[in-house]
Amino acid sequence: MIKNLIFDMGNVILDYTPRRIASFFTSDPEELDFLCREVFSNREWVSLDKGVMTEEQAIESICSRVPEKYHKLCRKVMAEWENYFLPVEGSYEQILLLKKRGYKLYMLTNASLKVYKYRKNSPAFDLMDGMFVSSDVHLLKPDPGIYLCMLEKFGLKAEECLFFDDVEVNVEAAQKLGIHGHVFRKGPDEIIKTVEEYEKQNAQ
Ligand SMILES: [Mg+2]
Repeated sequence: MIKNLIFDMGNVILDYTPRRIASFFTSDPEELDFLCREVFSNREWVSLDKGVMTEEQAIESICSRVPEKYHKLCRKVMAEWENYFLPVEGSYEQILLLKKRGYKLYMLTNASLKVYKYRKNSPAFDLMDGMFVSSDVHLLKPDPGIYLCMLEKFGLKAEECLFFDDVEVNVEAAQKLGIHGHVFRKGPDEIIKTVEEYEKQNAQ
Protein backbone atom coordinates (compact mmCIF):
# COMPACT_ATOMS: atom_id res chain seq x y z
CA MET A 1 0.00 0.00 0.00
CA ILE A 2 1.31 3.41 -0.96
CA LYS A 3 1.58 5.79 2.00
CA ASN A 4 4.36 8.09 0.86
CA LEU A 5 4.73 10.13 -2.31
CA ILE A 6 8.22 11.25 -3.27
CA PHE A 7 8.60 14.03 -5.81
CA ASP A 8 11.58 15.07 -7.87
CA MET A 9 11.75 18.87 -8.04
CA GLY A 10 13.02 19.88 -11.52
CA ASN A 11 10.30 19.34 -14.12
CA VAL A 12 7.88 18.01 -11.53
CA ILE A 13 7.46 20.95 -9.13
CA LEU A 14 9.41 23.66 -10.98
CA ASP A 15 9.96 23.84 -14.74
CA TYR A 16 13.62 23.28 -15.54
CA THR A 17 13.81 24.15 -19.23
CA PRO A 18 17.21 25.81 -19.73
CA ARG A 19 16.29 27.53 -23.00
CA ARG A 20 13.15 29.04 -21.49
CA ILE A 21 15.08 30.29 -18.46
CA ALA A 22 17.94 31.60 -20.64
CA SER A 23 15.44 33.51 -22.79
CA PHE A 24 14.82 35.90 -19.87
CA PHE A 25 18.44 37.03 -20.21
CA THR A 26 18.91 37.21 -23.99
CA SER A 27 17.04 36.80 -27.26
CA ASP A 28 20.22 36.29 -29.29
CA PRO A 29 20.12 32.66 -30.58
CA GLU A 30 23.90 32.34 -30.32
CA GLU A 31 23.87 33.47 -26.67
CA LEU A 32 20.95 31.15 -25.92
CA ASP A 33 22.91 28.21 -27.32
CA PHE A 34 25.93 29.31 -25.34
CA LEU A 35 24.04 29.50 -22.03
CA CYS A 36 22.36 26.12 -22.51
CA ARG A 37 25.69 24.52 -23.41
CA GLU A 38 28.13 26.20 -21.02
CA VAL A 39 26.11 27.24 -17.98
CA PHE A 40 23.01 25.09 -17.52
CA SER A 41 23.66 21.42 -16.88
CA ASN A 42 27.40 21.75 -17.44
CA ARG A 43 30.09 20.31 -15.15
CA GLU A 44 29.84 23.21 -12.66
CA TRP A 45 26.09 22.68 -12.48
CA VAL A 46 26.63 19.03 -11.59
CA SER A 47 29.28 19.99 -8.99
CA LEU A 48 26.85 22.46 -7.41
CA ASP A 49 24.16 19.78 -7.28
CA LYS A 50 26.65 17.43 -5.68
CA GLY A 51 27.59 20.06 -3.12
CA VAL A 52 31.28 19.97 -3.98
CA MET A 53 31.57 23.54 -5.32
CA THR A 54 30.36 26.92 -4.06
CA GLU A 55 28.41 29.35 -6.26
CA GLU A 56 31.45 31.65 -6.43
CA GLN A 57 33.76 28.77 -7.40
CA ALA A 58 31.30 27.71 -10.10
CA ILE A 59 31.17 31.22 -11.58
CA GLU A 60 34.98 31.49 -11.57
CA SER A 61 35.29 28.05 -13.15
CA ILE A 62 32.82 28.90 -15.93
CA CYS A 63 34.56 32.23 -16.61
CA SER A 64 37.95 30.51 -16.74
CA ARG A 65 36.90 28.41 -19.72
CA VAL A 66 34.60 30.69 -21.75
CA PRO A 67 35.49 33.82 -23.81
CA GLU A 68 35.59 37.07 -21.85
CA LYS A 69 32.71 38.56 -23.85
CA TYR A 70 30.37 36.15 -22.03
CA HIS A 71 31.59 36.74 -18.48
CA LYS A 72 29.10 39.45 -17.57
CA LEU A 73 26.20 37.41 -18.96
CA CYS A 74 27.36 34.27 -17.10
CA ARG A 75 27.62 36.13 -13.80
CA LYS A 76 24.16 37.61 -14.24
CA VAL A 77 22.57 34.29 -15.16
CA MET A 78 24.23 32.44 -12.27
CA ALA A 79 23.07 35.13 -9.84
CA GLU A 80 19.49 35.45 -11.06
CA TRP A 81 18.39 32.34 -12.99
CA GLU A 82 16.28 31.03 -10.13
CA ASN A 83 13.95 34.04 -10.44
CA TYR A 84 12.72 32.39 -13.65
CA PHE A 85 12.53 28.84 -12.30
CA LEU A 86 8.76 28.75 -12.29
CA PRO A 87 6.15 26.17 -11.23
CA VAL A 88 5.04 23.30 -13.45
CA GLU A 89 1.40 24.11 -14.09
CA GLY A 90 -1.02 22.04 -12.01
CA SER A 91 1.51 20.19 -9.84
CA TYR A 92 0.89 22.19 -6.66
CA GLU A 93 -2.88 21.75 -6.86
CA GLN A 94 -2.56 17.98 -7.31
CA ILE A 95 -0.03 17.62 -4.50
CA LEU A 96 -2.24 19.69 -2.18
CA LEU A 97 -5.16 17.36 -2.91
CA LEU A 98 -3.03 14.30 -2.13
CA LYS A 99 -1.86 15.87 1.12
CA LYS A 100 -5.52 16.30 2.08
CA ARG A 101 -6.10 12.63 1.26
CA GLY A 102 -3.52 11.74 3.91
CA TYR A 103 -0.39 10.91 1.97
CA LYS A 104 2.99 11.82 3.42
CA LEU A 105 4.92 13.94 0.94
CA TYR A 106 8.65 14.10 0.32
CA MET A 107 10.99 15.73 -2.15
CA LEU A 108 14.10 14.07 -3.53
CA THR A 109 16.09 16.41 -5.74
CA ASN A 110 19.42 16.81 -7.46
CA ALA A 111 19.86 20.48 -6.63
CA SER A 112 22.38 22.98 -5.36
CA LEU A 113 22.01 24.59 -1.94
CA LYS A 114 20.24 27.45 -3.73
CA VAL A 115 17.10 25.31 -3.52
CA TYR A 116 16.59 26.68 -0.01
CA LYS A 117 16.42 30.16 -1.56
CA TYR A 118 14.10 29.41 -4.48
CA ARG A 119 11.77 27.11 -2.53
CA LYS A 120 9.55 30.19 -2.26
CA ASN A 121 8.90 29.85 -6.03
CA SER A 122 6.23 27.21 -5.37
CA PRO A 123 3.95 26.67 -2.37
CA ALA A 124 4.40 22.92 -3.00
CA PHE A 125 7.66 23.04 -1.01
CA ASP A 126 5.73 23.94 2.13
CA LEU A 127 3.50 20.86 1.75
CA MET A 128 6.43 18.49 2.09
CA ASP A 129 6.92 16.38 5.21
CA GLY A 130 10.59 16.12 4.30
CA MET A 131 13.06 17.39 1.73
CA PHE A 132 16.15 15.46 0.65
CA VAL A 133 18.65 17.48 -1.37
CA SER A 134 21.65 16.00 -3.21
CA SER A 135 24.04 18.83 -2.31
CA ASP A 136 23.45 18.20 1.41
CA VAL A 137 24.58 14.57 1.15
CA HIS A 138 27.06 14.77 -1.78
CA LEU A 139 25.19 12.08 -3.68
CA LEU A 140 23.26 12.41 -6.96
CA LYS A 141 20.37 10.43 -8.37
CA PRO A 142 20.54 7.78 -9.83
CA ASP A 143 23.15 6.65 -7.24
CA PRO A 144 21.29 4.07 -5.12
CA GLY A 145 22.90 5.61 -2.03
CA ILE A 146 20.77 8.74 -2.20
CA TYR A 147 17.51 6.76 -2.21
CA LEU A 148 18.67 4.54 0.65
CA CYS A 149 19.81 7.55 2.74
CA MET A 150 16.47 9.21 2.20
CA LEU A 151 14.45 6.12 3.17
CA GLU A 152 16.55 5.77 6.29
CA LYS A 153 16.39 9.44 7.27
CA PHE A 154 12.60 9.59 7.12
CA GLY A 155 12.00 6.00 8.26
CA LEU A 156 10.22 4.99 5.04
CA LYS A 157 9.62 1.49 3.66
CA ALA A 158 10.50 1.29 -0.05
CA GLU A 159 7.35 -0.65 -0.96
CA GLU A 160 5.15 2.03 0.62
CA CYS A 161 6.66 4.80 -1.55
CA LEU A 162 5.72 6.05 -5.01
CA PHE A 163 8.36 8.22 -6.68
CA PHE A 164 7.77 10.74 -9.50
CA ASP A 165 10.71 11.89 -11.61
CA ASP A 166 10.95 13.12 -15.20
CA VAL A 167 14.23 11.25 -15.78
CA GLU A 168 13.79 7.58 -16.61
CA VAL A 169 17.11 6.36 -15.14
CA ASN A 170 16.24 8.00 -11.82
CA VAL A 171 12.94 6.12 -11.72
CA GLU A 172 14.60 2.85 -12.72
CA ALA A 173 17.18 3.22 -9.92
CA ALA A 174 14.38 3.70 -7.39
CA GLN A 175 12.48 0.69 -8.73
CA LYS A 176 15.55 -1.52 -8.34
CA LEU A 177 15.38 -0.74 -4.61
CA GLY A 178 11.71 -1.69 -4.38
CA ILE A 179 10.31 1.86 -4.57
CA HIS A 180 7.36 2.24 -6.93
CA GLY A 181 8.16 4.71 -9.69
CA HIS A 182 6.52 6.80 -12.36
CA VAL A 183 8.24 8.75 -15.15
CA PHE A 184 6.51 12.13 -15.07
CA ARG A 185 5.59 13.79 -18.39
CA LYS A 186 3.76 16.90 -17.15
CA GLY A 187 0.41 15.51 -18.34
CA PRO A 188 -2.80 17.07 -17.00
CA ASP A 189 -3.80 15.40 -13.72
CA GLU A 190 -0.94 12.91 -14.23
CA ILE A 191 0.06 12.83 -10.55
CA ILE A 192 -3.48 12.24 -9.27
CA LYS A 193 -4.27 9.69 -11.97
CA THR A 194 -1.10 7.72 -11.22
CA VAL A 195 -1.80 7.62 -7.48
CA GLU A 196 -5.40 6.55 -8.14
CA GLU A 197 -4.17 3.72 -10.37
CA TYR A 198 -2.10 2.41 -7.47
CA GLU A 199 -5.09 2.77 -5.12
CA LYS A 200 -7.21 0.73 -7.55
CA GLN A 201 -4.57 -2.02 -7.82
CA ASN A 202 -4.38 -2.14 -4.04
CA ALA A 203 -8.17 -2.47 -3.71
CA GLN A 204 -8.29 -5.48 -6.04
MG1 LIG B 1 13.78 16.40 -12.75
